[in-house]
Formats: sequence, C-alpha cells, structure tokens
Amino acid sequence: MSTHPETLALHAGWRADPATTAVAVPIYQTTAYQFESPEHASDLFGLRALGNIYTRIMNPTTDVLEKRVAALEGGVAALALSSGQSASALAVQNVARAGDNIVSSTDLYGGTWNLFANTLKDQGIEVRFVDPQDPEAFARATDDRTRAYYAETLPNPKLRVFPIAEVAAIGRRFGIPLIMDNTAAPLLVRPFDHGAAVIIYSLTKYIGGHGTSIGGMVIDGGNFDWEANPARQPLLNTPDPSYHGAVWSQAVKPLGPIAYILKMRVTLLRDLGSAISPFNAFLILQGAETLALRMRAHCENASAVVKFLSGRPEVARVIHPSTATGVDAERAAKYLPRGQGGMIGMELKGGKAAGLAFIKALKMFYHVANIGDTRSLAIHPATTTHSQLSADEQLATGVSDGYVRLCIGIEHIDDIVADLAQALDAAGG
Ligand code: PLP
Repeated sequence: MSTHPETLALHAGWRADPATTAVAVPIYQTTAYQFESPEHASDLFGLRALGNIYTRIMNPTTDVLEKRVAALEGGVAALALSSGQSASALAVQNVARAGDNIVSSTDLYGGTWNLFANTLKDQGIEVRFVDPQDPEAFARATDDRTRAYYAETLPNPKLRVFPIAEVAAIGRRFGIPLIMDNTAAPLLVRPFDHGAAVIIYSLTKYIGGHGTSIGGMVIDGGNFDWEANPARQPLLNTPDPSYHGAVWSQAVKPLGPIAYILKMRVTLLRDLGSAISPFNAFLILQGAETLALRMRAHCENASAVVKFLSGRPEVARVIHPSTATGVDAERAAKYLPRGQGGMIGMELKGGKAAGLAFIKALKMFYHVANIGDTRSLAIHPATTTHSQLSADEQLATGVSDGYVRLCIGIEHIDDIVADLAQALDAAGG
C-alpha cells in the first residue's frame, strides 16, 4: 500500500464489499450481528477471536473509517467515537482514574479545558496545566500518579505549534504517553513521527470537512511500551475486574501492540456508550477522501489572508504559525513544513466592540462555533466558545477581547478577501 495520503484517503482499509462487491463503503445500519455458533459467540466475547458483536462497540462501516484515519497517521489501530469531546475524555480515562493526574498544555480548545478543569476534576482526575513554551514544565509537574501528557498540535486560538518531540521524549523518560489532539492539522503533521503515543481527533472538523457530522477518534500509535513501568500505568498492568481479570498489556499481545485502544473499546466504549452512528462514519469517510486536496487549499488561502490582514490598519496582530517569532517560529518550521493550517486569529485594535461589529458585517463567512469546514467561518471566542472560562483562564488560552478567529475555507481567495475587507471597513479601528 502507498504511503501517500492522497492515495491512503481513498484506499486504506477497503477494497470492495465482500458480500456484494460494492465499491463505495456501504452503510451497515445494523445493531447486531448473527453469531456463527455458540462457540463463536463465546470466543468473540472472550477476545479469543475478533469480530462484530454489537454496534455500540464496533461496526463494519466505522471499521473502515478507523482503518483509514489510522493509516493516514501511521497508527496501528483506532477507535471512532460519537464526538471529539468523547475522544479526549476516553483517551485520558483509559489510563487515569480517581487519585491520578495528567499534565496538559494550557493551549487548549475551550471544551477540552472545561472537561479537564471541571468534569475530570469532579471524577477525581487532576489535570495540571503547564505552559508548553517550556517543555520541561511537563517534567516539573510530573509525580508518581501522573499517567499521561496531553496537548493540541496547532492549538486554537493561540496557534502556537506544540513541541511534540520534546515533550514526548520527556514522557518516555518517565513511562508517560503523550496524547496529541491533531484536529487542526491532519496531514500537516503526523504526531507519531515525533514520538506521540496516542492521537485524538474531532472528526467533525477537517477530516469530515463538510460540516455535516459530529465524530471523534482515538488512534493508537502502537509505539509505546505500556509494560515497561507497570507502576506508572496500573490500568494497563493490573487485573481489570470489569473483564474477568484481564491484564490489558498481556491479554491482547497476540493481536499486536493494541492494548491501549482495545481496552478502550471493550471497557470504556462498552460502559459509557459514546458510539458513532454508522451513517456519520459513512459521511466522514466521504469527506476524508478529499482531505489532502482540501488541506492544501485551506493552507494556500490562509497564507494569502495572512498577507492581506497584515496590511490592514484595524488589525493589531495576525496570529498564524507563519507570523510566529523566536522558538514558536522554529517549531512552526520544524513541525509544519507541509502547510501552516487554515486557522487565523486576528486581534482588532477596537477590542470587543470592533470584534462584534466585524462578525455582524460579514456576508459570506459563516458565524459559527465550528472549525475545519469547506466554507469560511468566523467567531468571537471571548463571548462564545470561551465565555464559560474566567477572564484569567481566557487570557491563558490566548483569547483577548478583540480576538476574532477565522477559519479559512476553500472558496476563491478573491471572495474571501473581499468579504474580510468590507467587514473590516464596517467594523473600523
Ligand atoms: N478538539 C479540538 C481542537 C476542537 O476544536 C474540538 C471542537 O471544536 C474538539 C476537540 C471537540 O470536538 P467535537 O466538537 O467533535 O466534540
């Protein structure tokens, strides 16, 4: 099989339907699967054989999506879920329980921040936030109960590229996996190539690409030794009473290095039930076929918009990896040589009033909470996506009053620039 993403996005994980020879991936809209015999059923439940049991836990349409995205990232196996939010929650809960902690970058999507600062905290999992500018901050925040590191590659809204290799190497020193949310940068960077152990996605964004379906995914890099330090990773190395005492790092060894992701499927997904529907998996697969073309167009258009905004007097600052300086610029060059993403932040000199006036004046851009759609999108985070955060928390995540987030689509660049120009004229300085 090719290693080119353009080809993998069309061919990985599927040739034709074994039952009908259909070329397009069918939507297997079924809840259950007929077992061949009582022995077969028992083997499936006992993990002595792999196969379909029930669509909450696996589905043939979803299976193709899992294989395809895993192939794009160079992972060994993946688990699709009902949303990106569910992917981040399960990625952490798979290794951490009450009394444990993880260390996370401060540069996070607002929803992930809330999950970490409130919901996981209520469940007894402490999240220690550190500034990724200094990778060693992860080491300093680590103690005996630290189970994972967590970060976003191209964090929205700060858009500072995360030092993946640096933090992954620190984690490996301690036996701690780095979980990377790569939602904003599919194909632009492959975090496994830099030492990350787990990748999560909101498929809702660039991978699906068309703003039709919510979905999430966790991908196992198969590159992390979960057994090396059993005391560090007890959930993978002690008997699991919810699965007749299975020790996950041992139980599935014959199936390959998939202990982390298989455990998540047969315990957390089984119990918490955040399954993706086969129909959404199908729609996201359709979108993913053109991921390479779209990412190229998003990046080219965004570069042109950065140039345009940099010349406008109303704009105090344009935030994009290409405008970074110092160590941030070095990281942007190191990790994003293939394109620096479709998201742009701009800080308007007129603060909140100008930000809101700009949003109101937009004609073609959609005013939505989403990112990664084919269409151009805009939002004022301080009054929307980040409004549940305190003022200090907003600033820590990079949101000021005048910040407007733009997610540049694949329309003709002249139309994108024309809409921005007239909205800036209307909003004023
Ligand atoms: N991660 C990032 C970087 C996001 O931007 C989002 C959503 O905006 C999520 C995770 C959550 O994804 P979902 O909306 O699919 O639950």
